[in-house]
Amino acid sequence: MGAGPAGLVLAHLLHLKGIDSVVLESQSREYLEHRVRAGVLEQGTADLLDAIGVGDRLRREGLVHEGIELQFEGERHRIDFPSLTGGRRITVYGQQEVVKDLIAARLETERPLLFEVTDVAVGGFESDSPTIRFGHEGEKIELRCDFIAGCDGSHGVCRESIPEGALTVFEREYPFAWLGILAAAPPSNDELIYAYHERGFALHSMRSPTVTRLYLQVRPDEDLDEWPDERIWDELERRLGLEGWTLNNGEITEKGVTGMRSFVVEPMQCGRMFLAGDSAHIVPPTGAKGLNLAVADVRVLAEGLAAWFENGDGSALERYSADVLRRVWRAEHFSWFMTSMLHRLEDGDAFDVKLQLAQLSYVCSSERAAASLAENYVGLEHV
Ligand SMILES: Cc1cc2nc3c(=O)[nH]c(=O)nc-3n(C[C@H](O)[C@H](O)[C@H](O)COP(=O)(O)OP(=O)(O)OC[C@H]3O[C@@H](n4cnc5c(N)ncnc54)[C@H](O)[C@@H]3O)c2cc1C
Repeated sequence: MGAGPAGLVLAHLLHLKGIDSVVLESQSREYLEHRVRAGVLEQGTADLLDAIGVGDRLRREGLVHEGIELQFEGERHRIDFPSLTGGRRITVYGQQEVVKDLIAARLETERPLLFEVTDVAVGGFESDSPTIRFGHEGEKIELRCDFIAGCDGSHGVCRESIPEGALTVFEREYPFAWLGILAAAPPSNDELIYAYHERGFALHSMRSPTVTRLYLQVRPDEDLDEWPDERIWDELERRLGLEGWTLNNGEITEKGVTGMRSFVVEPMQCGRMFLAGDSAHIVPPTGAKGLNLAVADVRVLAEGLAAWFENGDGSALERYSADVLRRVWRAEHFSWFMTSMLHRLEDGDAFDVKLQLAQLSYVCSSERAAASLAENYVGLEHV
């Protein structure tokens, strides 16, 4: 269920192992290929996409970054990834581009991928033969499955269909959101800049050599109508500006406010239905982990399903939830750590500010602290 990164990568991994699947998606292909979301791929994510044969354009057009900059008290400090992590890097490549490549690869396999399905209902997953009922092009269809992979994101039907009491929910709301824009302007810096500022956090990122992605910390209930383009550029200039550095402006092509929360359900399974990606966990975007976690989940799930189909061995599937939750909680902690270090707390006081500055200066002056941030950012190989 779901043709986001989790569903599409899982379907492709299963295809490569000779296992049939049907991918059901409620949105249109057009919508998915233009939905702007994440953009930072860990080394392991980029390597996996390459290894499964969908990395050609990613390698051609993706921007390989060897570090990030942290800015506070009017200075920038660089965290160098390769020297701190044994040569690991990140690649900046928009999620919608990853999805485009995966949809093309799926269609090429000629295995089913159905867009714009309606009235989806899952059931029987505590039996040996779960079912999915849905509508497609005016027809009502019932699928009998061996397994269901609930890759249908944070508002999907799979998690919601699990009986009450079977899952434990862990959740945290943050008292801020990000106002994000895409601008037709060349990036003003080669790498991402994470800026801690008394007016709130700001992030300079990019999607390509001609498109900049920029974010401002705002209130969760912020009204976009109060943010005409000039106000956004002024505020970005204030929070990111430094003497001798220019923020490139350009036409704003997309604008949105995204709330920030942490959310995990345990276990990520109910009978023969497995949850993967955002359907089971959400992280605030400060650590750039959402898309990477989704891919890491289905990599483990595909191995478990392959063992079951190839020789009836269900032990890896039984361990699925426990195995992936270790990485999920590591990423939850890292995302919380980055968020808490970099955002101004609305009800914070001078003591909070001093603690944040002490943490920032520790990360930028101690090689061990910097290495800890770097290895989490590029993605831990073993968790
Ligand atoms: C606005 C926004 C901005 C983000 N920005 C960042 C960022 O900057 N950095 C970062 O790391 N992460 C970011 N994320 C998180 C990241 O995009 C997600 O973690 C990632 O998309 C997870 O992939 P997924 O496949 O699990 O879920 P999704 O990408 O959400 O895919 C789930 C799919 O299931 C489909 N679906 C839902 N319900 C049904 C149904 N009933 N039937 C069939 N299909 C269904 C949906 O249409 C969707 O295509 C952002 C998320 C959002 C929402």
